[in-house]
This record gives sequence, C-alpha cells and structure tokens, in this order.
Amino acid sequence: MTNAQKSLVLLSGGQDSATCLAIALQQGDVHAVGFDYGQRHRVELQAAGRLAAEAGVAFEVIELPIISQLTTNALTRHDQVIEVKSGELPSTFVDGRNMVFLTFAAIRAKQLGIQRIYSGVCQTDFSGYPDCRDVFVKSLNVTLNLAMGYDFVLDTPLMWLTKADTVRLMANLKRLDWYRLTHTCYDGQVPPCGQCPACKLRAAGFAEAGIADPLLDAQ
Ligand code: ZN
Repeated sequence: MTNAQKSLVLLSGGQDSATCLAIALQQGDVHAVGFDYGQRHRVELQAAGRLAAEAGVAFEVIELPIISQLTTNALTRHDQVIEVKSGELPSTFVDGRNMVFLTFAAIRAKQLGIQRIYSGVCQTDFSGYPDCRDVFVKSLNVTLNLAMGYDFVLDTPLMWLTKADTVRLMANLKRLDWYRLTHTCYDGQVPPCGQCPACKLRAAGFAEAGIADPLLDAQ
C-alpha cells in the first residue's frame, strides 16, 4: 500500500530543507527525517526538530555515525579547519553524503509506503558537490527504483532556483517566519557569525530578494 498524498522530506535544519518542508506540506502529510552523522554542530539537528514541531509533522533522526569513520573532513572532524580554496571543494565536503542520505531516506520511505521524497539540493549555487547535481539525482532515482522494485519520485524543487528565488518562494508560501528556526552558519554560531561562506551566501540571497532574514531579526 502506498500513500500518494504523503511525502518524506530530508530535513537538515537549513534554509533549503525548510523551504522543501513548506512545499511538501502544500501537497499533503509529511514525514521528516534528519541524519546524525557526527556533524560538528548539534544545532543543525535541533533546528530540524524545531522546524518539524513548528510544521506539526513527525521527525525522525537516522543515525549514520559511519560517515565520520570513513572520511576526514571539516564537517565532522573538529580538528579540521573549515576553508574554501579556489578551484577546490570546500573542506566541509563529505564524499557521497547526499547519495547516502537519499538512499537511506528511500529505504525508510518505502517502509512507510511513501513514494515522493523531497530534497533541497540545488545546482544553481553549485559548490562542487557532484551528488547534488540534477543529473545525479535523476540517475539515483532510476537506481533506487531498480534496487527496491518501487516507483520513487525524488523531488528537488529548488534545483534550479537561486537563493533569492528560494526566499521569494518561501514568502509566497507565507512561511517566511520558519527561517527564524533554521541554521546555516558553518561555525555553528547562534547568532550566526556572518563571515563564513554559508552565512555570506545566505545574506546575499536575502539581500537580492529584498527581504529581511527573520533569523537576524530574531536576535
Ligand atoms: Zn557563519
């Protein structure tokens, strides 16, 4: 039995996943999942939990500690410095992370009788993550369908939007206030540091959209 009205949302606690949650709720019930993979900042998962509570949807944390065991990167290792060198992937890059997340999300979705899976991945602000590209998501969709004999729909509504487009979309959905619950800063700071690449990208999106960031207003 499948539930055509229900969807699963990958909720990281960031701005894009919050937007996906709002989009998915327009279509019907939502089951949200977050991943605990030893990320430096527990505030991310806390933000995801707060967003799910605000939206009134179930939120489940899937434990994936193996990711930090397999890789060395600044996202899960406190002894690594966060840096972005030109022409290279940021030091927060975790090989295959999005592929792993989508795969585990799909396994869980099938258990719940859910076919549609929302992810906030975006190719427009492409920071070099190969498994966030549209071509990869389409490829994985085929693979997951074959792997599990099931008709998944990997839905990535933000794939071709700019950060400013995403902010405007959230305003149109009348959920802009949810952004006050989101977490973006690479340094894990509350209030956000305003200096790291993630904070700068977020600020640029709001500035271009001509909308104030509710997160900063809340401080
Ligand atoms: Zn920051």
